[in-house]
Amino acid sequence: MSDDKPRSFGFETRAVHAGATPEPVTGARNTPIFQTNAYVFDDVDHAASLFNLQTFGYIYTRIGNPTVAALEERIANLEGGRGCVCVSSGHAAQLLAFFSLMDGPGDEFIASRNLYGGSITQFTHSFKKFGWKANFVDPRKPEEFEAALTPKCKAIFVENLANPSSVVVDMERIAEIARKARIPLIVDNTMCTPYLFRPFDWGADIVTHSTTKFFAGHGHAMGGAIVESGRFDWGKSGKFPSMTQPDPAYHGLTFNETFGDFGYTMKTRAVGLRDLGPTMAPMNAFLTITGIETLHVRMARHVENAQAIAEFLEKHPAVAWVSYPGLKSSPYQPLVKKYLPRGAGSVFTFGVKGGYAAGVKVVETVELFSHLANIGDTRSLIIHPASTTHRQLTEEQQIKAGAGPDVVRLSVGIESVDDLIFDLDRALRAASA
Ligand SMILES: *Cc1c(COP(=O)(O)O)cnc(C)c1O
Repeated sequence: MSDDKPRSFGFETRAVHAGATPEPVTGARNTPIFQTNAYVFDDVDHAASLFNLQTFGYIYTRIGNPTVAALEERIANLEGGRGCVCVSSGHAAQLLAFFSLMDGPGDEFIASRNLYGGSITQFTHSFKKFGWKANFVDPRKPEEFEAALTPKCKAIFVENLANPSSVVVDMERIAEIARKARIPLIVDNTMCTPYLFRPFDWGADIVTHSTTKFFAGHGHAMGGAIVESGRFDWGKSGKFPSMTQPDPAYHGLTFNETFGDFGYTMKTRAVGLRDLGPTMAPMNAFLTITGIETLHVRMARHVENAQAIAEFLEKHPAVAWVSYPGLKSSPYQPLVKKYLPRGAGSVFTFGVKGGYAAGVKVVETVELFSHLANIGDTRSLIIHPASTTHRQLTEEQQIKAGAGPDVVRLSVGIESVDDLIFDLDRALRAASA
């Protein structure tokens, strides 16, 4: 490293090191869990400048904590973003991401119709209470995003490798529509993680995460993240007065002017996190930092196992169809080649011959796969949406949501792939007997 040029380190190196240096007082090599609510001020002037956002530092853990900050820096780094705020869950991340953009009742945004089910519910029912309206469109048809634009539209929101239907979107085209409309493109990158896909490389402006899933990676810590690219021009857009006009709660400070390319991050922390309060626990930040240290190793194995299992299922006599974009038969192959060269994720659905009863039999027969409602764990997970997460819907609604009676969803873990195939094969035989 004697080279004079600053070295740009590889993804794997940054996954292990970014944001975390040895603790200077004790030399502790791991990031300590700063289990404290508050931080002592040097004097009254120091306190005043912290409260006025004139100096960086810690006041109260609802707004910031050193363990959480290490995680924020690591995630911002891996996404190639300028700033990041971590929060208590993926849903909290979505709430805060929009809270910083929406001016008030009557504002709208466009969302992909193929999203995590909980996101559709959040956008449709709970956001309505804030007066925010989500207009849903088909993500496979970028022109629908353009057609849905209105003067009140403040953002476009999509998922890549949508959970659970694995829709791959043409990110560059959708980013171009957002750019022309001078509104940010928000991408929920939970399913890919920056190991598989970096939305900022393709024109996105904001990335949200449920760190609960592959980032933490072991099914043991809830969390969310909001990352800013630093490239969206709030001033030129003219559509975001809360970014460009003086904030009365901070003595007339203007987030865009004062903080420039991390103004959105500062606003999300200093207003959203301060007033709505979904703070990430320091312990969960620690667990997520530890998880990310193996992100690249785990993701490589997740996609390798998922590819092998999808190919196995596609040939299985008890299986009607497999919706994995990594399969040669997938209509998403051209988009996968362009956007997902490292693999098409590890969460996907397939259909069992024999419908509802067969689906139930499969989830009840498997032994290595855990029957539960989560994804992105080291362990392999399985669920039959029609009898669980989507059981409140009519059969017609279930089919529309990609959760028809025959659908089984897998989140393929990092166990020995032969054992996973053995387990699925046994369950499929039982279901078709
Ligand atoms: C789980 C999930 C969320 C919600 O995250 P939580 O941490 O459960 O609040 C959002 N988007 C996607 C794609 C998810 O899988």
